Formats: sequence, C-alpha cells, structure tokens
Amino acid sequence: MKDTIAVLTSGGDGPGMNAAVRAVVRTAIGIGYDIIGVRRGYEGLINGWFEELDIRSVGNTLNRGGTFIQTARSKRFKTEEGRRVAYEHMASRGINKLIVIGGDGSFRGLNDIILENGIQGIGVPGTIDNDLYGTEYTIGYDTALNTAVECIDKIRDTATSHDRLFIIEVMGRHSGYLAMYTGISSGAEGVFIPESKDEYPYILQKLQEGKKKGKKSFIVIVAEGDELGGGFAIKDLLQRDLGESWDIRVSILGHLQRGGAPSAMDRVVASRLGYEAVMAMDRGMSGIMVGYTCMNECVNYVPLAETWEKKKTISDTTIDMFNKLSS
Ligand code: ADP
Repeated sequence: MKDTIAVLTSGGDGPGMNAAVRAVVRTAIGIGYDIIGVRRGYEGLINGWFEELDIRSVGNTLNRGGTFIQTARSKRFKTEEGRRVAYEHMASRGINKLIVIGGDGSFRGLNDIILENGIQGIGVPGTIDNDLYGTEYTIGYDTALNTAVECIDKIRDTATSHDRLFIIEVMGRHSGYLAMYTGISSGAEGVFIPESKDEYPYILQKLQEGKKKGKKSFIVIVAEGDELGGGFAIKDLLQRDLGESWDIRVSILGHLQRGGAPSAMDRVVASRLGYEAVMAMDRGMSGIMVGYTCMNECVNYVPLAETWEKKKTISDTTIDMFNKLSS
C-alpha cells in the first residue's frame, strides 16, 4: 500500500465538486493509495474531522450539487499556528499528501502548509467564478453560467411584456468572467465588469439608442465586484440619467448560481482534473494547480480536407481515466 492522501473542498462551493472528489478517490484507490476525506475544508483539517473514503462512498455523487464532504471558510487556517495544528492532525493519521479543491484563497493556504511543513499538495480549481489564472475552466463555472442564462431567458420574457430594463447582478467576486459570458449567452445589451472602467457612458448611450429604435426590453448584467457598485447602485445611476419614464427593475441572482446538479461539462472537467491531480501527485509533483486548457478563446483554422482526412482520437489517458472512475 502506498501513502495516504487527504482530499478537501474549500471556500465557495460549486456544482461539480462532488465529481472531483469522486475522481480523486477512485483514481487514488485505483493506483494503491488510501484516501481520507476531510469534512468542512481547512476547518476540518484543524479539528481532525477525517473520514475514510472508499470506492462505494463516492457512488451516486457525480450528479449531485454542492459538496458532500462540505466546505468552509477558516480564519484559523490563515495563521501559522492554525496550519501547524492542521499538520499535526495530518501527521497523527500518517497523512503527508493533500489535494484541495477550491479557489485562489484555498491555494494560498495550501501553499503555506506545503512550505511550512514539507507536505505534498496539489490544487484543483473549483469555483463558479472562473477567475483563476492558469486554467481556462474551473469546476462549477459551466453550471453557474447555464443557471444564470436560464434565469435571464425567463426575465427577458417578462421584460419584453412590460417594456422594462432589467439589471441583473451575477456572482464572480472580483472577476467579471461569469458576468461577461452570461452577457454573451443571454444577448444582454450591456455588461458591467470590474476589468473595464469606462463602460458606463457607452452602455447608457446604447440603451437610449435602443429605445429610439423601438427595442422593447433591455437586459444589463452587473458583476457583483464592479467598481460602480452592485445592481442597485447601477440602477440609481441609470434611472438618474435615463429619466423616470424608464421602468427599471433589479434582480440579484445570488446563491441560486451555486446550486443544482452539475452540467455534463462540469462533470467532465471535474473528473479530468480530479484524476490528473492524483496522477501528478503520484509523479511526485507538489505546489501546483492542475489546470484545464484549450477551451475559451482557442480558435483553430483548419483546412477543410483535414476535417475528414484526419481522425479525432480518444487518448489512452482518457480511457484510463474512465476505467478508474467507473470502478
Ligand atoms: P476560495 O478558495 O474560493 O478563493 P476563500 O478566499 O474564502 O475561497 O479561501 C478559502 C479558505 O482558504 C479561507 O477560509 C482560508 O482558510 C484559506 N485562505 C484564504 N486566503 C488565505 C491566505 N492568504 N493564507 C492562508 N490561507 C488562506
């Protein structure tokens, strides 16, 4: 038997985290490791909330939203003392390997405990915000995007019936990624994101021109981290500048975006990254995040003939992943 790996989910939850835990557990067991689930993120590491996981304990989790080992935010883990207590609990169970599914905050904590205690640690990007450098895709993002778009399609119906402007605030913390792609997918008239500081006059003008052209409904997306404030702050600005004749409503999608069964894409990404995290650990890697690449903004220019002359293959790694995860 090889060493014991601990796995935890940390920070904000997102659909697909269960699929990632399942992939970590089944891959680890498949290549001979023992695997321990840590309840409630770093808080669980500090308190020794460990439970042994086996192949069956992750059955029927792939399709479930949330995270069955739960997550938490831990103030104590931000201190060296907290991390030392966490390490002592790990050491007492013979654990020197840790896989953390979370966002950049979680990765800072992981990096600290690696450097301070010499453990081996790997991060798996799990956040609906898709705000991490180094991966084109984070676990939970696709489901959250689809949830937001589904809600906005419904809001569009009522907006059109009443000639209304709807301002819809979406999550994303300091990033406008979720907001921008929600805007693209829902055909919004404007998107306010923290990455862009001068969109207000442009969006204002676009709304006014749209009205003149006879547009019946308007959707404006606001990233929660926009520097002008959230949905209500932007409503006040637009009401002031568009005038009282505009019927403006605000909808905050909020935690709705975190829930629900993961989309097929999130299940695939989570399975892939959970699998790759264990394989990377087995190769001795540490202090890294496994990133998912080649999705957004990847455009290929392909000679037409290649589309039938060349064969799209399924890699041996993908087949190995499937075999391990389907155990
Ligand atoms: P996310 O991982 O989704 O970015 P948070 O920022 O809330 O979520 O971080 C999750 C947890 O990671 C925190 O509750 C804390 O325990 C740990 N953490 C966050 N930032 C740091 C930091 N700078 N140093 C050490 N640990 C951190």
